Amino acid sequence: MRVLVVGGAGYIGSVVTRILTQQGVEAVVLDNLISGHRESVPQSCRFVQGDMGDAGELDRVFEDGIDAVMHFAAHSLVGESVENPAKYFDNNFAKSLVLFEAMRRHQVQTLIFSSTAAVYGETNTSPITEEHPLNPTNPYGESKLAVEKAMKWYSRAYAFRYASLRYFNAAGAFDAVGEDHSPETHLIPIALQVAAGQRDELTIFGDQYPTPDGTCIRDYVHVADLADAHVKALRYLCDGGDSVVFNLGNGTGHSVKEVVAATERVTGKKLPVRIGSVRSGDPAVLVASSEKITRSLSWTAQLSSLERMIGDAWNWKQKYPRGYSFRGTH
Ligand code: UDP
Repeated sequence: MRVLVVGGAGYIGSVVTRILTQQGVEAVVLDNLISGHRESVPQSCRFVQGDMGDAGELDRVFEDGIDAVMHFAAHSLVGESVENPAKYFDNNFAKSLVLFEAMRRHQVQTLIFSSTAAVYGETNTSPITEEHPLNPTNPYGESKLAVEKAMKWYSRAYAFRYASLRYFNAAGAFDAVGEDHSPETHLIPIALQVAAGQRDELTIFGDQYPTPDGTCIRDYVHVADLADAHVKALRYLCDGGDSVVFNLGNGTGHSVKEVVAATERVTGKKLPVRIGSVRSGDPAVLVASSEKITRSLSWTAQLSSLERMIGDAWNWKQKYPRGYSFRGTH
């Protein structure tokens, strides 16, 4: 089987690519490298630098014979999406439709989509099941929800089956792949930069949320657990499974302060912390129930304790202190 991994040079996509390859599935990676890293794509994989909004490029890739698509390509910064919604609707939604049209032209009918728990928005429900109302509080979540809606109607009208996987905070490292964005906005990599002495302090975005310690609670899942779920979802669809939406979570949320404390334990460093103002578009609590995928595909998060995720990310950071800068290919 040959799978096109769109956005396969990104953090989650490149881990999935590695796991597919390890399991004997041929992966072709398409990535525009705006936020992905060429170095994180295994050398054994065919890599095409291109944009999923480029129909001609997609045709050339599909002409080689593709059996299924995994779609990770997206901008994913909540704050930026509030500032610049056009960028998010264009890249995350409009360009996804270009990809889906290419799939239709080439009779590719199987799609795994990287969605997000941000489609649920602000909620008092925890953990959130897949039936929860969908009310994103920011354009990032809204753009992902728009793709989910398109997939639902496409699957009814055309021979097209999809699995949409909703998760929130990928964490940890796998093999030579770790989390490295530029600029970095994510909590765990920032905490590790502070621990490594590359940043003076960590700012907590608000400590007056209606949570036990006043800071936001998120559902952190190890990137290798997420990758495992993508591969299981692919096999499910290839075995004839119907279109489906699954949450991916570890069942336990962690507050920003808990992440800081765990980072201090793992690294043995005291982190200078400052309380700042809230970041716009941030819901107080987002924790997903994964009962449905556990029931259907026997998936559970195996590596998703805070200590394990931060420990793996810390080991990766010590190996690659400057992330992907100055690195060769792997
Ligand atoms: N956060 C924070 N300080 C930072 C970065 C993030 O307090 O420097 C908080 C943020 O408000 C959120 C949580 O940490 O509640 C996780 O944020 P991240 O950006 O890692 O992921 P997101 O939840 O936005 O997908």
